[in-house]
Amino acid sequence: MELIFRRSGPGKEGVRLPARDCPPAGAIDPRYTRTEAAELPGLSEPEVVRHFTRLSRMNFGVDSHFYPLGSCTMKYNPKFLEKIANLECFASLHPLQPQLVKGATLTQGALEVINGLERALCEISGMDEFTTHPMAGAHGELTGVMLIAAYHKSKGERRKYILIPDSGHGTNPASAAIAGYEVRSITTDENGVMDIAEFEKALDREAAGVMLTCPNTLGIFNPRIKEIADMAHEAGALMYYDGANLNAIMGKARPGDLGFDIVHLNIHKTFGTPHGGGGPGAGPVGVKEYLAPFLPVSRVIKGTDGAFALDYDRPFSIGYIAPFYGNFAVLLKAYVYILLLGGEGLRRVSEHAVLNANYLKSRLEHHYDIPYAENCMHEFVISAARQAERGVHAIDIAKALIDRGIHPPTVYFPLNVKEAIMIEPTETESRETLDRFIDVMIELAGLAEKDPAAFREFPKTAPVGRLDEVKAARDMDLCA
Ligand SMILES: *Cc1c(COP(=O)(O)O)cnc(C)c1O
Repeated sequence: MELIFRRSGPGKEGVRLPARDCPPAGAIDPRYTRTEAAELPGLSEPEVVRHFTRLSRMNFGVDSHFYPLGSCTMKYNPKFLEKIANLECFASLHPLQPQLVKGATLTQGALEVINGLERALCEISGMDEFTTHPMAGAHGELTGVMLIAAYHKSKGERRKYILIPDSGHGTNPASAAIAGYEVRSITTDENGVMDIAEFEKALDREAAGVMLTCPNTLGIFNPRIKEIADMAHEAGALMYYDGANLNAIMGKARPGDLGFDIVHLNIHKTFGTPHGGGGPGAGPVGVKEYLAPFLPVSRVIKGTDGAFALDYDRPFSIGYIAPFYGNFAVLLKAYVYILLLGGEGLRRVSEHAVLNANYLKSRLEHHYDIPYAENCMHEFVISAARQAERGVHAIDIAKALIDRGIHPPTVYFPLNVKEAIMIEPTETESRETLDRFIDVMIELAGLAEKDPAAFREFPKTAPVGRLDEVKAARDMDLCA
C-alpha cells in the first residue's frame, strides 16, 4: 500500500510516501481508506511560515500589547514556565501510561506535580482538598454546583435556588442553571456590593447555595462577607467562591477563612499560564473537608510509602467531569509559577495588581465618571456616560484604543453600570505603560468633547476597518 498526497493547483505532482512509512496492506479496513488522493495545498516552508507570521501579527496579545481586559487578568506569563512544560519528561508523557511497570515509576513525577499543586492551592485559598480536573473557570463552577447538589442530596434534601448578585460573571447563573437550579438574582447596592437586605429576604430553606465573587467584578471587596456566609450557613445553604479574581487577594485573605465551602480558581488568570481565544485553561475546585467525598474521580493519593497513586474507588463522587486529570501542562506551569514566586512573591503580585489599578483609577477619575468611589482592588469600572451624551459610547472608546496599540478593556460589563469600561492593568505592567494608557484615555476624553464624529472611523489601523457589530451578530453566514 502507498499513501498519495496530491498537491492542489494545476500541474502539481502527487507526493508519494515510501512504502516503509505505510501500514501493511490489509491493516486498515478498506472502508476507511481513501481511493482518491487528499487535496492538500502544496506550499513551501517559507510560504507556510509567512502565512502564520502574518496571521500572528494581526493578533493583539499580552506579548505584543498592553491588555487591560477587566475580569480576565491578562498578565504577562513568564516564558520560563513554557520551558519547563516543554521538558521531554513532561511533554512526552501519555495519560494512559501505566503508573508502575516492573517496579519502575513512570508517572510518579506527574502525579507529584498534581498533588503538589493541590496542596499549594489549599494553602493559598484556605481549603482542605482540591481537584485539578475542571478545564476552565466555568467548568469549575459547574463542578462546584454539582458538588452543592450532591451534598444536599446526601442529606435527603431537594433545594431549588442558587443566589447570585447581579454583578456576577455571566457564567455563574449559566452554571447554576445547567446543574438544574433556578437563579435568584440579588441587586447591587450604592456601595457596589450585594444588597444585604434583599439577600436576607431571598434566603430561605429552598436556597442550595450562594455564588459570590469577592472582590467582585466592580473591583470591590465586600466587608460583610463573613456575615453573609454565616447567614447562608444558618439557612443550610453552601457558600461558593468564584475565585477568578484571586489576583487581588493572594497572601492577604483566604476564601476558606472567609466562610466559603467551595472555591474555583482560574489558573490561567492568576497563576501565570496564558489564556485567550478559549485556549487551554484550568479551573481547579477546592472544598472543605466534609465535601471531599463528592469530588470527581480520579483522586491523586499518597500512600504510606510516599508513592502516589490514582484512586477511583470513591462511592460518593460526582463522577467524571473531564477525561484524565485536567489540562496537565497548564497545571504544571501554575505549579512552577507558585514555586518560583513563593508565598512572599504571590503576596507582592496582589499588592502590585491592586496598586496599579488604584493608580489608574485615581488618574482617570477627573476625565470619566466613576460609579463607585471606593478604593478598588485589582480592577475598577469607569463609565463613558458623560462621553455618551456627546455620542461617543464605550464601544467607540474601545475601538479608538485599538488604533493606539492598546487592547480594549472589557466594555458593557458588569451590566449594572451604564456604558461600563472595566479596567484591569495587572501587576506585570510598568509605570511607563500605565502612564501611556492614562495619556491615551485623557486624549480620547478630550476628543469626545471636541470632535465626537471622529470616533466613527476608528479603528483605522485594523485590516478590515470597523466591523459592523450588528451584522456580525445577526448574520452568522458571514462566519462560514
Ligand atoms: C473569567 C471569569 C469566569 C469564567 O472563567 P473561564 O475560565 O473563562 O471559564 C468566571 N467568573 C469570573 C469573575 C471571571 O472573571
